[in-house]
This record gives sequence, structure tokens and C-alpha cells, in this order.
Amino acid sequence: MAEITKFNLEESEMPRQWYNLAADLPNPPQPPLGPDGKPITPDALAPVFPMNIIEQEVSTQRWIDIPEEILEILSLWRPAPLYRARRLEKELGTPARIYYKHEGVSPAGSHKPNTAIAQAWYNKKFGIKRLTTETGAGQWGSALAFACSLIGLECKVFMVRISFDQKPFRKLMMATWGANCVASPSPETQSGRDILEKTPDTPGSLGIAISEAIEAAVGDSTGGTRYSLGSVLNHVMLHQTIIGLEAKKQLEKAGEKQPDFVIGCTGGGSNFAGLSFPFVCDKIHGADISIIPVEPESCPKMTRGPFCYDHGDTACMTPLLAMYTLGHGFVPPPIHAGGLRYHGMAPLVSQAAVEGLIEPRAYPQLKCYEAAVTWARTEGFIPAPETSHAIACAIDEANNAKEEGKERVILLNWSGHGLMDLMGYDAYFQGKLSDHALPQGDLDKSLESIKDLPKPEVRKSGKW
Ligand SMILES: *Cc1c(COP(=O)(O)O)cnc(C)c1O
Repeated sequence: MAEITKFNLEESEMPRQWYNLAADLPNPPQPPLGPDGKPITPDALAPVFPMNIIEQEVSTQRWIDIPEEILEILSLWRPAPLYRARRLEKELGTPARIYYKHEGVSPAGSHKPNTAIAQAWYNKKFGIKRLTTETGAGQWGSALAFACSLIGLECKVFMVRISFDQKPFRKLMMATWGANCVASPSPETQSGRDILEKTPDTPGSLGIAISEAIEAAVGDSTGGTRYSLGSVLNHVMLHQTIIGLEAKKQLEKAGEKQPDFVIGCTGGGSNFAGLSFPFVCDKIHGADISIIPVEPESCPKMTRGPFCYDHGDTACMTPLLAMYTLGHGFVPPPIHAGGLRYHGMAPLVSQAAVEGLIEPRAYPQLKCYEAAVTWARTEGFIPAPETSHAIACAIDEANNAKEEGKERVILLNWSGHGLMDLMGYDAYFQGKLSDHALPQGDLDKSLESIKDLPKPEVRKSGKW
């Protein structure tokens, strides 16, 4: 056993603080705008989020203490192991050393509980009794259901109709954790009823489900309900940085000074931000690291979308966020990486991209499934279709290292397992999947919906 495969930390070595990139970006992200086009005030968000979370959302403090009770719950699966992908390296014949942070070991099977636990805890602390949220394929809904059950909150999940019908297992996980999950659009909200009246057979969408979840939170006259979002917002990026802070300590244990590549897949940006932001900080202070967010070619907000103000949801209920976007009306094709089918990108990740600190890439679906299968047949763990985007990029860089004959250190975020996503694998094996590069005409049409919204400044220091 000369070769170590897992680099573990003791529970006592868990990071005690989250890292806030807003403190170090040369130009901080521009503030969200309200309906009047002016920066939104914390008070305006109070019906939707508890004030302790709003404070984190607007904080520019570099380090924020993680409450002890949150650490205790996270210790159920954290510190998460850092693996060296020795079998994949051997299969590729690469001189690169590939490390992956295994976030699939959480009870819900992905990185999402890192923020679900924190959000549930802050809401409980604020006196909230019930959380509402939306979920697409069910990963976020199951993470929040798990968190609410441990912390003692009611949980209501609006699940996009088509997933509700096609993906019963995530729904059953939510039921097991005691959450109330309904198909969206539902008859329980005005926005749901309006849509059902016009289009009773609609498959639903994330945008509709968000509108329903916000309405259900704001509409509770007792004031005991708030809404929770699983990605995109600053406080979610913050909670996820425990991933990268752990990885730094673990790379040190592995004898690595610094990675050459840091790679994560991107839906709303949270698992990528979680791993990469501590390394983005190093890069701001002079380190030479390539930091790569990977998105699907079918939903290419950072590689093809403009940096604009846009709403986070289809019904325009959220404030305007300064971000890379495909337009809030964008309907992504039905690729299997459900968690990457979102039109916008987190403002913090977007601003890092504006600066050139991170270098986005887009990958086609089939190449990602091919990488996922190579991974499963070497490393054993079956990745989520989302995660396969990071894997495909890591394999490309390992192959480049081989061609150049260079030792490289590649670090990727293994954001979750694919054990609830095997239907996608089945479709791949049967040759039923295809690539869906986004036609320019569709993109242009979608961007029509945001052409009259205010434009953020492009603030770039020119250093990267
Ligand atoms: C939700 C999800 C993603 C995408 O969301 P981000 O906020 O971009 O991280 C990626 N991987 C897995 C496994 C997910 O569940």
C-alpha cells in the first residue's frame, strides 16, 4: 500500500469559516436591482429570505464563521474525501496527477446539502417554521428535504411536472425525509392555477416552479414561511466554499503545492464556486492556475450568452441580477444533465469570468457520457450527468499533459453520484442521445426578452 488513494481530514480539521470571494475581487459584483431599476434594499428581500441570510448575501467580509451546530451536522459526511484518480490516470497513460473532491458522499448524494443545512439552520434560528423551494430533477429538493428533517422545519417542494412524472425516486427520497412534494404547476398557487387553466398539459419548468415557491412563501400570512434557493445567490456560493478549503488542506497532505487546473461543472455555479473560489483568491494574489467552469453546449450562458441584468426566473418575480444569461425565457433542450439546464450564472462566478480569472468552456452531451462511462469503469463511482462535464474537461487536460509530456496537477469537483440518473445512461447505451448545440437563431430570439432591461457596467481590471 505504498500509494495513497484517499486524502482524508479529521473532523477536527474541518474549516471553521467560509470564504467570501466578494472581499477579494478587484471589482465586486454589481448589486441586484429592484422593479424601479434601483439597487434593491435588504428590507425588500425580507418577505422572501430571513435577515441573517440577507446579511450574508450582501456581506463583503472575507471570512465568515461557520456556526458550531452547522459543523456538527456537516460532520455526518464531511470532511469529504479527496481522491487521487490513479486508475483513470493509468487508463489514460497520462503524466498528470488527477485529484477529485468526492461530494457524492452526502446523504442526498451531491454537494447541495452543504448549503441546504446552512440555510435551514439560519431560517430556524430566525424563527421560521417552513421552507418552500422548487426543484427540477429533484437533487435540490431532496437536499433541502434532508436538511429540514434534521433541523426541524417543514419543507414544501414544487417539482417540475415532467420530472415529477418521470423521476419517481428523488420524489420518494423527499417523502422519506418528510417533505411535501407536489408537481408544478400546481393548483395551490395563483401562478400555478393561471398556467393550468391555459395549458393543463404543460410539462412545467423551473421558472414556473420558482414562481410558485416564492408565492407560497410570501403568501403565508403567519409570516412563518420563507423561500430557499439552491444555487446562484452569493450566500449559496459562500456555503459551498468549504469544499475548496478542505481540498486545499488535502492537496497539501498529498504533497502538492498548487493545482495547475481547477475544474467544475456549472448549472447555477455553486459546486464550481465552492471548489474554486479559494483558488481564485490565490490567483488574484499571483498564483498561476487555470480555473475552468464547464457548461453544456446546449445551455452555454458563459461561453455564448451576454453579461446582462436579467431575472432569475421566468415569471420575473426575482430582482435583476448582473450575470451571464441566455435570457429568462430560455427553454433548454431536454438534455439529461438536468442540474445544468438553467439560463443564468451566479453573479460572483459571472464577475470572476468578466475579470478573466476563470475560463469557461462548453461541452457536448455525448462526449460527457463517454467520459462518465470511462470514469465508472476505472474509478468505479458512477457520476451524475452534471458531474460528467467536469470529468470530460479533466480528461481533455490529462490528454494534453500527455501530449506535452508535462506533469500537471488537475483538481476536479465530483459534484454528485448518478445512481438516480441511470435512465440517462440507459438512453446513452441505446444510442438515443444526441448533441444539442444551441442554434444562434434560438439564442437571438431568447435574448429579445431582455433587450430592454438595464445593462451592468463591464468592470475589468485587465490583470488576467
Ligand atoms: C445541482 C447540481 C449541479 C449544478 O448546480 P451548481 O449550482 O452549478 O453546482 C451539478 N452537479 C450536481 C451533482 C448537482 O446536483
